[in-house]
Amino acid sequence: MKTVETIQELRAARAQMQGKLGLVPTMGYLHEGHLSLVEIAHKNSDFVAVSIFVNPSQFGPTGDLDAYPRDLPRDLELLEGAGVDLVWLPSSKIMYPEGFQSWIDVEEITQHLEGAKRPGHFRGVATVVAKLFNATQADMAVFGQKDAQQVAVIKQMVADLNMPIEILVGPTIREKDGLAKSSRNAYLSESEREAATVLNRALLKAEEAFKQGERNGDRLRKIMRDKIKSEKLARLEYVSCAHPRKLNELVQIEKSALLSMAVFMGKTRLIDNLVLEKE
Ligand code: AMP
Repeated sequence: MKTVETIQELRAARAQMQGKLGLVPTMGYLHEGHLSLVEIAHKNSDFVAVSIFVNPSQFGPTGDLDAYPRDLPRDLELLEGAGVDLVWLPSSKIMYPEGFQSWIDVEEITQHLEGAKRPGHFRGVATVVAKLFNATQADMAVFGQKDAQQVAVIKQMVADLNMPIEILVGPTIREKDGLAKSSRNAYLSESEREAATVLNRALLKAEEAFKQGERNGDRLRKIMRDKIKSEKLARLEYVSCAHPRKLNELVQIEKSALLSMAVFMGKTRLIDNLVLEKE
């Protein structure tokens, strides 16, 4: 496994890999969710590259950038074990040198959900992902359904800007008790960790109602809201029952919907989602 930092090193390493390159962008502190994306990349390409970059431009002013968990030696060990060919570890200086001034704004779908609560977040995400695509010249990239709006934003950007790259999406990997794996789970105290299963439980309860024939957006949102409120340690930021591609809130579900939410457990902000599909 080759590890590179600068754009020049990256380009040289890329030139040696004759074949289809799959990229898995990450912010490190890797877990099985990330590794599942590496597996998908392996199945769909000749070489696999992973980037680790905690992107400052996608964190808000009060975000957890400085506190974001990091463990590079462990990450590299995991990636080596997963048969990754190339790891790119750019610094902030490499990604945003002095004078940097080009940003990508995906306009409409970023008005909803995470985008509405985290102004500027997806501008940072779209820009850094475009840079990762350009620098690696990857043919394919894999993202997790865990960040459903991120997937929608990136697919929109790739289509709008004619980027020559294929986007694949891996399912959300969960702990045994249903909590979606996340680097941020490391922040949770023992009691918060236990209570954090309420996100998945709320989604499943709404899914159950959908299976019983419930199609009303308000009622599905209420089911999730009530469930979250029943957990004392949880503080709800939003629940959503939205159009799966446009991401606007639905009054009534026609065929499918994206259920999603953001919930604070103490200081830790967790997100989760589930797609409803009429059989
Ligand atoms: P992050 O390091 O949190 O920026 O995540 C890097 C990639 O891993 C993103 O495409 C995420 O959607 C994906 N990811 C994070 N958690 C999970 C999970 N539990 N299951 C599947 N993919 C995930």
